[in-house]
Parts: sequence; structure tokens; C-alpha cells
Amino acid sequence: MPYNKDLYTTGYYKEPGPKLDQESPFESMLERFRMAADILNLDEGMFQYLASPVKQVIVSIPVIMDSGNIEVFEGYRVIHDNVLGPSKGGIRYSPDVTLEEVKALAAWMTWKCAVVNVPFGGAKGAVRCDPKSLSHSELERVTRRYTANMLGVFGPDRDIPAPDMNTNEQVMAWIMDTYSMNSQRTETAVVTGKPIILGGSKGRKEATGRGVVTTILAALSKLGKMPNKVTVAVQGFGNVGSISAQLMYEQGARVVAISDVSGGYFNKKGIDIPAALEYTDNGKKSLEGFSGAESISNEELLKLECDVLIPAAREDQINRHNAEQIKAKIIAEGANGPVTFNADKILENKGIMIIPDILANAGGVTVSYFEWVQDRQGYFWTEERVNRRLNRMMRNAFDNIYQVSDEYKITLRQAAYVYAINRVATTLKMRGIYA
Ligand code: NAD
Repeated sequence: MPYNKDLYTTGYYKEPGPKLDQESPFESMLERFRMAADILNLDEGMFQYLASPVKQVIVSIPVIMDSGNIEVFEGYRVIHDNVLGPSKGGIRYSPDVTLEEVKALAAWMTWKCAVVNVPFGGAKGAVRCDPKSLSHSELERVTRRYTANMLGVFGPDRDIPAPDMNTNEQVMAWIMDTYSMNSQRTETAVVTGKPIILGGSKGRKEATGRGVVTTILAALSKLGKMPNKVTVAVQGFGNVGSISAQLMYEQGARVVAISDVSGGYFNKKGIDIPAALEYTDNGKKSLEGFSGAESISNEELLKLECDVLIPAAREDQINRHNAEQIKAKIIAEGANGPVTFNADKILENKGIMIIPDILANAGGVTVSYFEWVQDRQGYFWTEERVNRRLNRMMRNAFDNIYQVSDEYKITLRQAAYVYAINRVATTLKMRGIYA
């Protein structure tokens, strides 16, 4: 029996309820999930299963602050699904994070892992705190107590955290150490995104941008275009954007615009990306004052005439207000959720190909998987091997999604959700429901 949305009352979809704001990245993701479930004609039980996280843990984190006072923070870990394997997902520190947001992000991870055929489920964690107001040692105590409270959740075979907003290699090192102290052995595979010296993987830092470019090259070859004949605009010049820009530049593409919070930089003859990278390697990591290009706004960058647009800054950049003016032929979503649900339809009508975030930026989780494999083997790969395997997995993922989009006559975004949901649902059917 196909699922009946009106009967559905648990998990993510509490209906009847307020109309979803389809410009929000999380609700856009939920709408896309719903649409893919329709295409797959998913039965109601399976829909309910996939729409409900398997576990939601809320912990109190009491910490003795530098002042000597006790402060209590709230921490979350949501495991959306672990049918394909141990769950995987980052931990963010943010003053306004909510359980609802963590639930949506955990589901996002399930689909992302399934798209690239990584044997992981999806999870996400968070601590509600303002890391900017914490000292280094307060941050360490928050992290260690959060980890201690999650000892029954985390584990190399159970649930494997990674960095996310406001967390980094150092936070991962503290989690690994706390978990290891409690299990009385060094357990490097309990987190990924660690410093290389503690069992991190070579190539992890560049992995997301590298994966973005692999999918762009695959898309260009489907459209019969040579990379050295295309123009590219990149929004965001951080980890994902700068690596994507550099690798497209190395392919001979003309990168006509880049940007960051300081604004946009345009040169129709092409920007010297190695020079821009050197410029931002200046401590403040900003493009502000970069010469060799004229100033434009971030909004103008999005509307430039170009072959490939890479939004790699933040969510909700291309929405119902500006989608009509986008002129790129391909949009590769380096960021999570840069195009809203409402914009999808407008861009589709304009014939723009979108390489969706759960495919385009899945190179990061793919190399996180490689890190976990290397930790478990106790044998570390060369960067060349990491990159070769990453390229292969991303290329296979693109081809799989492209084939589904061709078969069902749907967009790559819909195809990615259909592929991911189908994979999890098929595995679940084989495993059966434990009673
Ligand atoms: P980052 O902090 O290294 O870089 C972000 C960049 O975007 C910076 O250059 C910043 O100045 C710029 N920026 C911020 N707001 C902007 C705005 N309004 N307009 C233009 N530029 C703006 O972050 P990152 O790791 O590169 O992540 C970027 C996006 O990619 C995020 O959505 C993140 O969730 C997603 N992502 C990152 C990874 C990863 O491995 N780093 C993996 C998957 C997805």
C-alpha cells in the first residue's frame, strides 16, 4: 500500500502542521525525500521507517568553567539509520542548534553515504554552546564530557563522529582520546577527520573539492564539453571552494569569478587561482584586497554567464528570488543545500543541470570512510592511492545516479534521492525487521 501522507504523524513529518517553508535547507531536503518516495511508490511502512530516526540521545554536559562556576550545556546525537553499517556524521558546536536541525542533518548523511556506496548509515551530533566564548580548556572539558556521556553511542562499529561546524581536528583528537581512555586501548577508528599523526588520512582536507571536480568532469563529458573549454564561477573560497577552483584551473578551465564573505572577484580572462590561494594564505584567509580581478557582489557572481557554477559557501544561496536569473549550464553543489526546493523547479525549466549536494560534496565522507578503513587495518595509504580510489568511487556514483535519472526521466537530484532511498530500503527488506 503506498504511504498516506495525511496519516503520518511520527518522525520528521508531523502532519497536519504548519506549511513547510520550502526555502529552508532542511525542509527542502525533507520535500525531496518525500518526492523520491513518491517516485519509488514506497509503501507506507517503509516510508515511516525511513522517516524516523532510530535513536535520539540528549545529554546534559556539566562543566567546571575557568571561573570555578558550573555551567550545564545540552548535547545531542541522532542516529537516523544504521541499516547499511555503523552510522556516520559530524558534530557541530553552535549556540542555537536544535534537535530538529540535528535530526534533519542526520537523515541527510544517510542519503549521502548511500549515494556513494559507502557502508555507513547516517548520524549527526551537536552541543548547544558558543565555542567563541569558551577558552581552549573549557572547550576540551565540554568535548570530553560530551564524549563520556556518549560512550554507549559512539564506537568504531557503532557510530563514528567527524568534524562539522565549529569543530575541528583538535576536537576529534579529544574525542578519540576520551573514548580510548575509557576502553583502555587506542581506538583511532572511533572518529574521522583526525590529525594525520593520530590516524587521519592523507587527502582528507582536499577530498570534498576533489570529489566536486570529479563529478563536474563526469557531467561535462556527458554534455560533450572539454574541461579546458569551459568557464567557471565559484562562490566561497574556503576548503571546498578553493580546492574546487584550483582543480578546475589545473584542468585548463577559465575560472572567471571567485568570492568569499568579503565579496566577489571577476576577471573575464580568467583568475590566476594559484595566486589567489597564495593571497589567502595570509593568516586572515580572506580575499579582501585581491587584485587581478574587478569587484562584484556575491549575488552578481551567481548570475554570471558561465558554464559551471560552484556554490561552495553556504545554504539557501539560489532561491525563488534569483533562480530565474541564473545563467550557468551546470550547478555543482559544493555546499550543503545551496539551492532551495522552490528554486529546483525554476532551474529545471531553464534546462540547468544540478549536481546535487548529496552526490557532489560526498568526497568528504568517502575519504572519511577511507580513514576508518586505514585505522582498522593499521596500514596507511599514499595520497595517490586515496585520490585514485576517491575518483573511482565518485565517478561510479555519478554514473549510477545519471543512469537512474535517465531511466526514470528525472533530475539528477531526484535520481540521487531515489537511488539512496532504494538502496537503504532494499537492504532493510533483505535484513527484515527484528521482532
Ligand atoms: P569554509 O569555512 O572553509 O569556507 C566557507 C567559505 O565561504 C569562506 O571562504 C567564506 O568566506 C565564504 N562565505 C561564507 N558566507 C558567504 C557568503 N554569504 N557569500 C560568499 N561567500 C561566503 O567551509 P567549507 O568547509 O569550505 O564548507 C563550505 C560548504 O561546504 C558548507 O556548506 C559545508 O557544509 C559544505 N561541505 C563541506 C565539506 C568539507 O569537507 N569541508 C564537506 C561537505 C560539505
